[in-house]
Amino acid sequence: MNPTPPVTPIADDIFQVRLPLPFALNHINTYLVRDDVGWTLIDTGLNHPASRATWKVAFDQLKLSPAQIRRIILTHHHPDHFGMAGWFQSQGAGLVYMSPRERELALLVWQEYSEQDFDSYMAAYGMPQELVATVAHGMSSTAAMTHPHPPFIGVIEPGSTVTIGERRFKALLAPGHSDGQMILYDANDKLMLSGDHILMKITPNIGLWPDTQPDPLGRFLESLRSLLTYDVRLGLPGHRAVITDWRGRIVELLEHHELRLGHTLAAVADGATVYAASLKVFNSQTFTPHEWRFAMAETLAHLAFLEKRGLVRRETTGEAILFCPVG
Ligand SMILES: [Zn+2]
Repeated sequence: MNPTPPVTPIADDIFQVRLPLPFALNHINTYLVRDDVGWTLIDTGLNHPASRATWKVAFDQLKLSPAQIRRIILTHHHPDHFGMAGWFQSQGAGLVYMSPRERELALLVWQEYSEQDFDSYMAAYGMPQELVATVAHGMSSTAAMTHPHPPFIGVIEPGSTVTIGERRFKALLAPGHSDGQMILYDANDKLMLSGDHILMKITPNIGLWPDTQPDPLGRFLESLRSLLTYDVRLGLPGHRAVITDWRGRIVELLEHHELRLGHTLAAVADGATVYAASLKVFNSQTFTPHEWRFAMAETLAHLAFLEKRGLVRRETTGEAILFCPVG
């Protein structure tokens, strides 16, 4: 089963629990924070057998039961974060909370997902038909791993204060990876539960999906710049290692997207579909269909950013949408 113990102590009252994922990005970090009467869980994992087995090991290690989790806070609606929320409730855990926009997206994406709509979205941006079918099917099997869904989801408004035990966290809106992603800042301890907003080694996927509000990359970059002013000793992310150089990593992410915008602009120099541009921007040799949809959505987010700033324009020729440089 899981060779390394899944639980890592972060502080007296905070534990990281790392769970397996059946994707190229093969794990997610969740966090248990001790409360006055029990525990608050931040993010949950994807509901598949390896994850449930890992939770069992983690609970044995911590001498806890799921019923001692009195509250679950989800940073965003993506399957690896949302997926086990309903399972936890079926095991006796307490209420699930999300930001208003993430709650809305959880319903849109996990309950109203249509393989057909997703197919036509990807096809319009130039994805070949064989790949579209595999990608859309992959989406359906991932969606299945978010069941059961929590019957009721409460809301935490960004800007409000969330008290967990002795800690007071400010809920901050951190859009880009998902429209309403919510991260939690404990100013006393200079600690940030940072979701997938800022990650080490990999850059969070910034994608324009069928349900995404306009210009996700613009909103992401703006949010990153505003977070440069926060004093953060330790960032606790949804994937990979903890963040010890908060500002340094933000600067790297800003530079990364600056470079990628240049590559994306070059990729459409002669006019290209999003799919054709993503072939040039990414090293696609090793991509699984699951990674392909992220590459497409990410390329589209960069093109939409350039379009909004008047650097590229779109042309509809036949079935597919073509992006071309302006001027
Ligand atoms: Zn994630």
